[in-house]
Amino acid sequence: MNKAVIFLADGMADDPLPELGGKTPLEAVPTPYMDSIAAHGASGTFLTLPEGFPTSSDAANMSVFGYSLAECYPGRGPIEAVGQGINLAEDDIAWRCNLVTVIDGILKDYSSGHLEKEVSAVLMKELQEKFGTDDVTFHPGVSYRNLLVLHGKKFSANVDYFKPDSSQDEHIDNLKLSTLDDSKEAVYTVEFLHKLMKDTAVFLQAHPLNAKREAPANSIWPWSPGKKPHFQPFSEKYNGKTAAVISAVDVIFGIAKCAKSDVIYVEGATGFLDTNYAGKAEAAIKAAENHDLVYVHVEAIDECGHMGDVNLKMRAISDFENKIVAPVMSALEGKGYTFAVLPDHPVPVKIRKHTRTPVPVAICGPHIKPDSVMSYSERLAPQGSLGYMKGEEFMRKVLNLPAK
Ligand SMILES: [Zn+2]
Repeated sequence: MNKAVIFLADGMADDPLPELGGKTPLEAVPTPYMDSIAAHGASGTFLTLPEGFPTSSDAANMSVFGYSLAECYPGRGPIEAVGQGINLAEDDIAWRCNLVTVIDGILKDYSSGHLEKEVSAVLMKELQEKFGTDDVTFHPGVSYRNLLVLHGKKFSANVDYFKPDSSQDEHIDNLKLSTLDDSKEAVYTVEFLHKLMKDTAVFLQAHPLNAKREAPANSIWPWSPGKKPHFQPFSEKYNGKTAAVISAVDVIFGIAKCAKSDVIYVEGATGFLDTNYAGKAEAAIKAAENHDLVYVHVEAIDECGHMGDVNLKMRAISDFENKIVAPVMSALEGKGYTFAVLPDHPVPVKIRKHTRTPVPVAICGPHIKPDSVMSYSERLAPQGSLGYMKGEEFMRKVLNLPAK
């Protein structure tokens, strides 16, 4: 038997902070279970966001699954569309479409104050009723994370964009979409979307649901476009191994579905600090019975990093340790499981953006020879015997498959 659980802490890695006495948030929070993975196993680092691809969670998590971004990165829009069960036609172009807050021309909040799902659903429904046509469809997602699909050959996905969570406090005039080639389709797509953004902003700004909001959801923000994804199924790629994925967010479900893995929905999983941790831990333990790999993704830590709030980030790391890693490891202890812990990418609270710094990794299991690293942290992981991993190395190590 060779079963594994990967604990994926979105955006956990950080930098040493003076206010924490030179420790990182991960180092400052007691994490005995994560530390035990390093102590009983081996550590290393992993390049999840190679140059040339967006520094986003979809790209980073695809890398963790061992998918080559160069070979099959489709853009975040289409991954989330698959995650939501939207059937894309071959000519469709799916875009992430955040509902964001713009005040006096400045992009103030990429999430409209973590827009409530119910408010978001109403706004997206009305956007579809008022602005939906044969050319464009609006799809509601979770909270501010919505989608827009352009239909037909007159549009192009070859359009550059600004990632909203990396562009806060900048003027929207400096954040315009631009063409990546000279085709008339790309030019038309940019014009079409700029007009749509302008028209919908007038409607959203005047919407009664925005009247009393501190962070009104008053603009749409299309980004990361692409066409229908084509991935090699996970089990075909990894010698018939089966995987189950537990998350709250469509982007992770999308990757799982593109990989034809099982997706497990947990009621009350929100992608934030109020998520149903107990439900996710329980689901992971259950899924471990009949899958070779369980991938448990927790989003909240990333969100706290984007907010730039050290204390909140430490609370999210503590919750991840105590409410996910501890119960799952305790329940599966002594049964020969392999455990791995890693973030998909760093979100340093001082920068409030994803960075390409390789992430710290720890893996323990019957086939992993322990090294001298005794706890799990950004500082110690590079000293471990796993070294600097890329591509499929991490996943093949976790699954105990020979390196390629
Ligand atoms: Zn992420």
